[in-house]
Amino acid sequence: MYIKAVVLDNFKSFGRKTKIPFYQDFTVVTGPNGSGKSNIIDAVLFALGLARTRGIRAEKLTDLIYNPGHEDGSSSSGPREATVEVVLDNSDGTLTRSQVVNAAGSEDVGDVDEIRIRRRVKETDDNYYSYYYLNDRSVNLSDIQELLAQAGVTPEGYNVVMQGDVTEIINMTPHSRREIIDEIAGVAEFDAKKEDAFEE
Ligand code: ATP
Ligand code: MG
Repeated sequence: MYIKAVVLDNFKSFGRKTKIPFYQDFTVVTGPNGSGKSNIIDAVLFALGLARTRGIRAEKLTDLIYNPGHEDGSSSSGPREATVEVVLDNSDGTLTRSQVVNAAGSEDVGDVDEIRIRRRVKETDDNYYSYYYLNDRSVNLSDIQELLAQAGVTPEGYNVVMQGDVTEIINMTPHSRREIIDEIAGVAEFDAKKEDAFEE
């Protein structure tokens, strides 16, 4: 399974609906400073619900909505919203149809060769709302997280390596570094279960 495309609409510096294609093995995004490269990564973290743990660059969710006056600190009026959709290629069957149906709470999920996870944040005068969709079915964050965990993508995982993470890993003690390798290899989960069992 891999990310096939990210569609940003009114998200951060992407004031127009923009579809960014990704390749199966390796995709490089280049551009001048401030052109929005890191915003694309923020979009992925936002849509997949990984934002809180992996350090999205925004103080509050509503800062993620496109704001033409972003540079001078002014803000536009009226209802505002941002949407990001992450399109996953699941043609290798990483996730089964029943796993997707289960997460969506509906049989009506279309062809699961393609899994589309969409998140929308909407700001009103006195509040804001956040919505998640899985193949156009309305779901909760926990549904998305449980589904992704079945494909090996977790908020604590290392599927996303942020700026500074590499330096941090280099500066770690050998023991902490070992913990990361255990985490990636999927051994850490069993260590935690073993510890729980001993406590009982
Ligand atoms: P660098 O090469 O320096 O890492 P980058 O390509 O990663 O740059 P980003 O950090 O993705 O750039 O984009 C920063 C730009 O996004 C800034 O110009 C900032 O003003 C703009 N920006 C961030 N949030 C918003 C927003 N809510 N509305 C409009 N523009 C925004
Ligand atoms: Mg950047």
